[in-house]
Amino acid sequence: MGQLSDLNWLTRFLSETPGDEQVGGSSRQVPNACWSRVLPTPAPNPKLRLWSDEIGSLIGLDRGEAEVLGGGKPVTGMDTYAQRYGGHQFGNWAGQLGDGRAITLGEVDTGSGVWELQLKGSGETPYSRHSDGKAVLRSSIREFLCSEAMFHLGVPTTRALSLVTTGEQVMRDMLYNGNKQLEQGAVVCRVAPSFIRLGSFQIHAMMGDKETLESIVEHTLKHHFPDCGFDEDGIIEWARVVAKTTAEMIAHWMRVGFVHGVMNTDNMSIHGLTIDYGPYGWLEDYNPGWTPNTTDSGRRRYRYGAQPQIGAWNIARFLEAISPLVENTDRLTEVLEFYISSYEDSMNQIWADKLGLSAFIESDSELIIELNELLQKVETDMTIFFRELGSIQEPNIEELKFAFYDESSIPNEEWNAWLAKWWERVDSNPDREKMMQTNPKYVLRNWMAQLAIDAAENEDYSVCEELHRLLKAPYDEQLVFESNWYHKRPEWARHRVGCSMLSCSS
Ligand code: AMP
Ligand code: MG
Repeated sequence: MGQLSDLNWLTRFLSETPGDEQVGGSSRQVPNACWSRVLPTPAPNPKLRLWSDEIGSLIGLDRGEAEVLGGGKPVTGMDTYAQRYGGHQFGNWAGQLGDGRAITLGEVDTGSGVWELQLKGSGETPYSRHSDGKAVLRSSIREFLCSEAMFHLGVPTTRALSLVTTGEQVMRDMLYNGNKQLEQGAVVCRVAPSFIRLGSFQIHAMMGDKETLESIVEHTLKHHFPDCGFDEDGIIEWARVVAKTTAEMIAHWMRVGFVHGVMNTDNMSIHGLTIDYGPYGWLEDYNPGWTPNTTDSGRRRYRYGAQPQIGAWNIARFLEAISPLVENTDRLTEVLEFYISSYEDSMNQIWADKLGLSAFIESDSELIIELNELLQKVETDMTIFFRELGSIQEPNIEELKFAFYDESSIPNEEWNAWLAKWWERVDSNPDREKMMQTNPKYVLRNWMAQLAIDAAENEDYSVCEELHRLLKAPYDEQLVFESNWYHKRPEWARHRVGCSMLSCSS
């Protein structure tokens, strides 16, 4: 364990892909480049507020160094840059986007793996598109806590190492409705094998720059998909891995009730990791039409129930992007079909596990469809319902009442009929252990994150710490936390900004 300067820093992405000749500078188009060197903006009064011991140990880092992790002078070995990428935003090609408020410190070789460390919120880059490149405390807490919670839920995700407040005030219009306010600035250091996205390939394909496309594909295969050679077979195999890991990630989102909120192609990792925690949310009542993102409230493109199809749409855009490198493009169509079958396979397994079945069989589809319909009849808490289902002693809805908001409105007969069917299917003996490992007791409900934010905005980080600890074991009963954190959404949170309404402003 040591300091940032003791780590073994690599600069593979910078040395193997073409970059910007200019260092730093203001917002502009940077044709034919995968990155621009840029220095983070130092924080006036950096304070380390949250730290992940697990990620610290993973990369061999002792707790500390608020200054560098808050955007201060890079240490020897770091070569800091912002990545250039593009993306489809809400279904439309948006051209060059890039790291507008993220700056990579470098890649750390731990001997057993290489991790990219990236600051989010440490100032302007050539990709800031006339925004400030900063992040506020509320969105930084949401990213820190949720990425760690997702990891422990078994959902593929980027990780978080630290959260530093900058001591600077940042102006934000939280709901884009003209109510600007000063908020505390913060920087999260996040960690992943890389922050390469689907949009990292799209930008070059869309600009007709095959040479740069080849260069970033070759780099990506060499380091991140070493089993795939840089030829047509290798590229197709890689695309299949991307399709499969993306499908599996989304199946896990569906399992735990996570809604990403902004599934633009620039927010989709090439590693099938959940990335860019913005206006995400968790289903409380089981409403497939729900999205937490008010920016998307009209069309609700990224609602919970649409996520699997959006994943397919995004993979199709990725396949288009790599198509200049493939002669037999029928093979790309097959990859898209493979995404769909991978998703179905994952989801069938997940449903079997959620319901404690020994294995999924075709006829279970009916049971699952009926369950989905019933869960939507009256306001029902998804997390509590599935958790409690794992411990009922007989197929009677009485035992699951705690999951319903209004007990007097429960369609008892329909539920009992469904429960009887399920009970028969599992031979009165569901695989309870499997259910308890699949249906979490604790997730980062929107109001839980909001309580942590409210306290932190008043310099009290104890709620953040408590949630960080709680969510490291989301499948354990943790009875001491039950009364505070295992219950349905409280009434105050129903319409509160930050709980039921979020935007991309962060
Ligand atoms: P998002 O929807 O959060 O993924 O952001 C879309 C694009 O806007 C990305 O290229 C971000 O880097 C950029 N962006 C978002 N917020 C800011 C900000 N405060 N300053 C600069 N760029 C930003
Ligand atoms: Mg983004």
